[in-house]
Amino acid sequence: MTTTTINPARHRSLGDQTWQDEAVCQSTEYNPVDPDIFFPEPDETEKISTAKSLCDQCPVRRTCLDAALESGDTDGIRGGLTEEERGPLHEKLAGRLDYSRVNATIAGRDVHLTKAERRAVVHAAYRHGLTEQRLAWLLKITEEHAQKLYRETRRALRNRDLEQTPEPMLPTGTDDDHLGRSDFGTAA
Ligand code: SF4
Repeated sequence: MTTTTINPARHRSLGDQTWQDEAVCQSTEYNPVDPDIFFPEPDETEKISTAKSLCDQCPVRRTCLDAALESGDTDGIRGGLTEEERGPLHEKLAGRLDYSRVNATIAGRDVHLTKAERRAVVHAAYRHGLTEQRLAWLLKITEEHAQKLYRETRRALRNRDLEQTPEPMLPTGTDDDHLGRSDFGTAA
């Protein structure tokens, strides 16, 4: 029988630059790399393909792309994508909702979150019964702020439950015009 192992997503902690140690584009004595190839003009196709072929072999390609997006670094080739190719990703970042990031945060990792992901963390923390102190620690906010977020979450869930409460059913096969007060079983 074969089994499949899926490695959990590994996200860079905020401020962590150690991933760059594994970057294929790090120039060394034995692996000289011209940094200029990562900043080509749009029509410098040879530079672009040389840079991209290095990115293709790079073990931290995904982390490199995430770091560029999260820091708003729109210059040059990053994670195998040119400035033009990365543009739409920069624009869409604010709407990202990646649950592996939400779960990593709940587990105590300090990763970059969008607004949507922060909201999801608050919701998940509330659902899991985490204390306000723990939420404050996870999101690096004050306890007062965490209390406010929990109050808002409680209110939102209550409103959602109310919206989902089904309307009372009228007795079937009855003409509404002929219903009397006793048909609803209420006391006068
Ligand atoms: S993905 Fe490309 S630009 Fe990013 S670290 Fe690797 S080689 Fe350098």
